[in-house]
Formats: sequence, C-alpha cells, structure tokens
Amino acid sequence: MWDSEKKIVLEMSQRMSQRGFVVGTAGNVSMRLRDTEGRQLMTITPTGKHYDFVSVEDMVVVDFKGNVIEGQHTPSIETMMHIEVYKTRKKVNAVIHSHPVFSSAIAVAGLDIPPIVDDQITYLGGGIKVADYALSGSQELVDNVISALGPRNAVLMANHGALCVGRDMREAFTNLEMLEKTARIYITVLGIGRLTAMPAEAIEVQMAFFEYMHGESG
Ligand SMILES: [Zn+2]
Repeated sequence: MWDSEKKIVLEMSQRMSQRGFVVGTAGNVSMRLRDTEGRQLMTITPTGKHYDFVSVEDMVVVDFKGNVIEGQHTPSIETMMHIEVYKTRKKVNAVIHSHPVFSSAIAVAGLDIPPIVDDQITYLGGGIKVADYALSGSQELVDNVISALGPRNAVLMANHGALCVGRDMREAFTNLEMLEKTARIYITVLGIGRLTAMPAEAIEVQMAFFEYMHGESG
C-alpha cells in the first residue's frame, strides 16, 4: 500500500543524496500517510541502505508509536524524531533530516542564524535555532530538536546537521535548499566581518506572511 507516497519519499531521498545534502546512507526522509482506518502513520526511509540501491518496496510504514506496519527493513534510527514533528506540527506532511555542509558548519559553531534575508523569513519562519547536541536516536535529541524547531520550517542540530519540514515533500525540499543557501550567506557574511541587520518592520511583515501560510492557528 501507499506506493505513490513511498515513491515520493524514495525520489526525494535520492535527490537529497545526489545534491550532496548527505554522504553515504546518512539522513532520512518521511511523509505523513492518510489511512482509511484512521491510524496515524508515516512512511520513512529504511536505516543503513544506500539511496542508489533502495526501491519503493524498501520503504517502511510505521505508526506514531514507532511500530512497523509495513516493510521488511528497520526504519530510520531517527524515526521518533519524525513522528514527534508530525504530532506537534499538524500542518506538516513531510520531514527531511540531512547533513548539509554549510548548515552543519554553523551547527558545529553552535550558532543560531539570525533573520538576514527576505526569503529565509517567508520560507523558514525567521531566525533559525540550533538544537543542543544529543546522540542520534535518543529521546533527548527528539526533545531538543522539537523545542528548537518551534513553529519554524527548519532547525540546525549541534555537531550533526539539520531538519527541514513542509506541508508537502516539494516544500520540505525547497526549505532544505533555502536553509543551506541562507547558511552559505551567513558564513560568507561572517567572513566579511560586517552584517547589516534587517529592518524590524520588514521582519514583522514577512513573519506575518509566514504565520498566514504556515501558522498552526490558521
Ligand atoms: Zn543525521
């Protein structure tokens, strides 16, 4: 079942790998599933499989307790992190966890990215926070990521990588590209050694737009 959704997850995980947002078998991609029996489900990439050799049948379907509903493989080690995003962000239907170089560099520096460019704010929801370090697959990492993500569409993970979300898979991937672009700009600006802050009114207008598009109250 859910072959079309599994295909979307598969194709986006391969694109993530081809674009250099992960190396080897790292990273994981998932999508919320609509279930006729009313169960809360998602499909996620299997753990430890190289994206070039993964097929639709290798995708895993899990419920929101992490139980495997469909698939022969072990789901990603970060399965509970994806589930918690879907539980806390009702409008989010796709999650991508990757290790993009520039975003990861900022996460290694332990820096948040302040709101520095227009499209960062309208796509991602303002300044991007870095979640405190915790081991992969731990409940502590889940808690840290959810708290630092907040209502935004991207979060950095200290000494690890990043997580991006979207209302659909295309949007989640665009948000990943947007995060990495913003990280490159920020690192370049730090190198120049001079940063002009955005006008507060501009941030306010763009945040209102973001809230209208992505806010959980809307
Ligand atoms: Zn990772």
